[in-house]
Amino acid sequence: MKRVFSGARPTGKQHIGNYLGAIQNYVKLQNDYECVYCVVDVHALTTAEETTRLSEYTIDMALDWLAAGIDPTRSIVFVQSHVPEVMQLYTLLGMLTPLSWLLRVPTFKEKAKAQPQNVNHGLVGYPILQTADIVLYKAEIVPVGEDQLPHLELAREIVRRFNSLYGEIFPEPSAKLTDFPIVMGLDGSQKMSKSYGNTIDLDSSDEETRVKVMNAVTDPARRLRSDPGHPAVCNVFKLHGHFSQDEIEQLKSDCIAAHIGCVDCKKKLTQHVNQSLTPFRERRKELVQRPEYVLDVLSDGARRARLIAVKTMQQVDAAIGFLHIRDAV
Ligand code: SF4
Repeated sequence: MKRVFSGARPTGKQHIGNYLGAIQNYVKLQNDYECVYCVVDVHALTTAEETTRLSEYTIDMALDWLAAGIDPTRSIVFVQSHVPEVMQLYTLLGMLTPLSWLLRVPTFKEKAKAQPQNVNHGLVGYPILQTADIVLYKAEIVPVGEDQLPHLELAREIVRRFNSLYGEIFPEPSAKLTDFPIVMGLDGSQKMSKSYGNTIDLDSSDEETRVKVMNAVTDPARRLRSDPGHPAVCNVFKLHGHFSQDEIEQLKSDCIAAHIGCVDCKKKLTQHVNQSLTPFRERRKELVQRPEYVLDVLSDGARRARLIAVKTMQQVDAAIGFLHIRDAV
């Protein structure tokens, strides 16, 4: 089976947008690929100056993945900082990546604008570390959304440059274009994101979910129960699209005809979100009771990832031509 690599930054609690997009896709990919899934905690430092909750978020991410169905006996699940070889490779790839390639990356420009007080070296070098993550494990496939294609193209350029300078060490990773659904946030104005505070967190209880949904913004033009609604502009309706597919047409016509009020519509959504997440939440609760198990999974994942990483770095060092001595300390 071809090897897939994907990573996610542990910068906060994960939410249903992450679940419907990346996490469910991770679970499916296990059927067709050898998957390597990494909690990229070093990448988190490019935007997070405050790290007091970094290890908590790292565990949270692993818990979410395992509860959703990522099987650590089939996939390698590990934490980026537990495999130090990635830092070596990051440094070496940085030596052959022209700065101009990095400065043109749209997300660098966006992030530099968003955090002018912290335009750090890691922010501009982000695509190099991302490339190192992928190629250290010789992954051939990277699941990406359309918006991430330029990043993968840059990774491919870096690989081509390395291979042309030092020999064919790395496979050029290919994109597995994935249709990640854009899940609207509860504020109705932008996509669900922890930075906007408009999320339903995956570890929320049924009651916490209910409170969040009941406070969600709906069609702003619908002021009275008797006003016809406009599902096309209502984010509650968009969320129904993910959780209430069997009833979606009925809900649409009931809304347009004002046969259903927003309160009842939100109650239905709450019920469907909670029903759909019940197996995940139960499994997650069980795992929370077994912290040693989760640490064991991450430790075994790091061990398996390092077996690949060490071998790759031996090939890289030899290809570049570093002086080799046995037992260097
Ligand atoms: S009835 Fe539902 S879909 Fe229609 S506006 Fe209200 S919340 Fe939105």
